[in-house]
Amino acid sequence: MSDETTIMIGLETHVQLNSNTKIFCGCPNPVVYTANLKNKELEPNTLTCPTCLGLPGSKPRTNAKVVELATKTSLAVGCKIADATYFSRKTYFYPDMSKNFQTTQFEVPLAEKGEVELNVDELKKKIRIRRIHMEEDPAKIIHEKDYTLVDYNRSGIPLIEIVTEPDMKTPKEARLYLQKLAMILEYLGVYDSTSEAALKTDANISINGGNRVEIKNITGTKEIERALSYEFIRQKNAVKRGVVIVQETRQWDPTTGITKALRTKESEADYGYIFEPDLNVIDVDKKLTERLKKEIPELPDDKEKRFIKAYKLTQKMAESLVAEKDIADLFEIASKNVSVANAATWCGIVLKKTLNYNNLTFVQSGLKQEWMIELILSYEKKEYSDVIAEKILRKMVDDKCDSKTVAKKYKFQKLGDVGDVDSIVKKLIGANKKAVDDYKAGSEKSLNFLVGQVMRETKGGVDANTARKKILEMLK
Ligand code: ZN
Ligand code: MN
Repeated sequence: MSDETTIMIGLETHVQLNSNTKIFCGCPNPVVYTANLKNKELEPNTLTCPTCLGLPGSKPRTNAKVVELATKTSLAVGCKIADATYFSRKTYFYPDMSKNFQTTQFEVPLAEKGEVELNVDELKKKIRIRRIHMEEDPAKIIHEKDYTLVDYNRSGIPLIEIVTEPDMKTPKEARLYLQKLAMILEYLGVYDSTSEAALKTDANISINGGNRVEIKNITGTKEIERALSYEFIRQKNAVKRGVVIVQETRQWDPTTGITKALRTKESEADYGYIFEPDLNVIDVDKKLTERLKKEIPELPDDKEKRFIKAYKLTQKMAESLVAEKDIADLFEIASKNVSVANAATWCGIVLKKTLNYNNLTFVQSGLKQEWMIELILSYEKKEYSDVIAEKILRKMVDDKCDSKTVAKKYKFQKLGDVGDVDSIVKKLIGANKKAVDDYKAGSEKSLNFLVGQVMRETKGGVDANTARKKILEMLK
């Protein structure tokens, strides 16, 4: 029964664009402004003007840079750009938008009909993009115990909303789509990939062709799979009990890991969209789209294909390298200084493992390209074993400095710098008679145990291959 459950998932993702100023006024865009602040903290309601406060009589103007960033992103996912597009007022009543409407696009979005390709378990799958439109971010509401605060700094941050068709069949596919989308946005440089708030997704999910439920405001790329998995099980259990799923909006709570009903979903007609008379029609002409197309860098899919072909990498390794643009760049530079195999292993596996452990991107880690290349080179020259070199890398991240300084400071053991290896091996063979006997009886595991003992005794100053060779020589 449960195998027959079909799921349909569609996503609406809001991306905060990183133009210097807001979408309809000249106020600095907090996304960019805050990133340049020393303590990253911004006083509430300091980046505002009559327009983004929504005061009566204020007049908006469309930021041309926002149109460019939105168009570039739309082109990168293969969308068709509208010849003429305009803004509309989405009417609603809530203190996060004091003029009581959000300026957005409804009837004619900026772009339509694109696609994003995913690797799902070694298979390619295309997720169709229905539309991409521009709109303003509302203010931020802060609910305290006895009162509520409003911060209008966020009001007017330029957003694009990227809406997919309901093409995702599992929560995992939804995560893969979001990760791929984030990657494309990072390559394009149109948003702040280090900010969790830069990407917010509403997810629509229905099972067995039933009513769809919308889950609001899932932040970043990490929560989506969890939120949808929870919601899928909740709906499946409800159906099992004979409960009909109603069309509603629910809120994901990452702390408790559950979704809660917010309201029964309003239809688009309830917002009473009307044409925004204060703003001009936007004409994205051929000349602009041609220029923007040229500005689009090599995107992850193309880079992955090129890496596989040019460097003879496996699909998995190429995927791992391109997942972070700076690591892909590092790999290409490193491969000119060390072997491709070593560059790939160190950038695509060891470095990524270390960064993941610290929950950092390459840029956030403070590592420099030349430090990484120097480290890989010293491993390649057999100055350090792989175990020691990896330990050096971890310390490089901790201390934010180069490999030579780290190696000196923590007195890391150099290969071949361990004195009389032969007598160490001899001693260990004598001390581990049982393992030796087991090995002679055919146990490969026992040999590995002895290799481990030698590496341990020499504090990694002997690599696994050398240790193995010495042991076998001595047991001959
Ligand atoms: Zn303003
Ligand atoms: Mn929206």
